[in-house]
Amino acid sequence: MRYFSMEEMNNCFMDRIKIDGLQVFAHHGVYDFETKKGQNFYINAELFCDTRKAGKSDELSDSTNYGEVCEFIKDFMEKNTYKLLEAVAENLSKAILLKYDLIKYIKLEICKPEAPIQIPFKNVSVEVKRGWTTVFLSGGSNMGDSVNTLNGAIEMLKEDPDIKNVTPSKFIITKPYGGVEQDDFVNCAIMLETILDPETLLDRLHEIESFYKRERKVHWGPRTLDLDIVFFGKTVYESDRLIIPHVDMQNRAFVLEPLAELAPNFRHPILGKTVEEMLNSL
Ligand code: ADP
Ligand code: MG
Repeated sequence: MRYFSMEEMNNCFMDRIKIDGLQVFAHHGVYDFETKKGQNFYINAELFCDTRKAGKSDELSDSTNYGEVCEFIKDFMEKNTYKLLEAVAENLSKAILLKYDLIKYIKLEICKPEAPIQIPFKNVSVEVKRGWTTVFLSGGSNMGDSVNTLNGAIEMLKEDPDIKNVTPSKFIITKPYGGVEQDDFVNCAIMLETILDPETLLDRLHEIESFYKRERKVHWGPRTLDLDIVFFGKTVYESDRLIIPHVDMQNRAFVLEPLAELAPNFRHPILGKTVEEMLNSL
């Protein structure tokens, strides 16, 4: 498996199917007359996917049918009404990614050359880039029925429409970390793919933690459920509430051991070491 970074995607080394200027008459707009009368929209789409297999087999079933994608876009544009081009682009790109499994990443531009602007202009458009990212989580529990809780959390991830291919590692029993006297932990790693951004994924994980009534009382203390983002593709990201890759993962056997079962050769984007190498140097 290869892990593409956003940079690689943006450098466009990946194969893509391009749709240029697809014309659809639809009713998106802020003003009443726009939603009543309608106007022409033009859609440009780049569908990033590996075309090699179809290139070799010459079979349509090995590729994404661009005719079908055009029909899908037209249908979506006609059946929905949004005020903003931003909302059209956001929702349409997501719908395409969810519908067509071979599309890993999409660049989508919605153009509105008949927009109500009083000054002569050629075109206005909104362009978004969205895609699937391979993510690794670390799960842990040492209160209540831990195995049941972790299994329940994995089921909730599987049921999330914005997440697919959820693959858990084996569960392992570990000694508590951080010096607080408490019961042993059950830990696991979870691989998944998501179209969410890191912050929204963290919100979803917090929702699952809350469902299992996690209380944040003692730092490093007992918990019914802890779900951390270890890697988010090759993304390096930092905000006031989220650091990716997880800052302390390289020091935690309970994170690295189950992770090594799923992705021993995944290389840390900053430290430059594979999961297996980090585990062996503990
Ligand atoms: P820990 O996971 O270190 O035992 P918590 O689960 O209580 O502790 O996490 C505390 C906060 O850490 C979370 O509310 C979250 O905002 C922040 N955080 C920072 N980086 C990450 C990450 N990669 N994954 C999950 N949470 C993170
Ligand atoms: Mg946590």
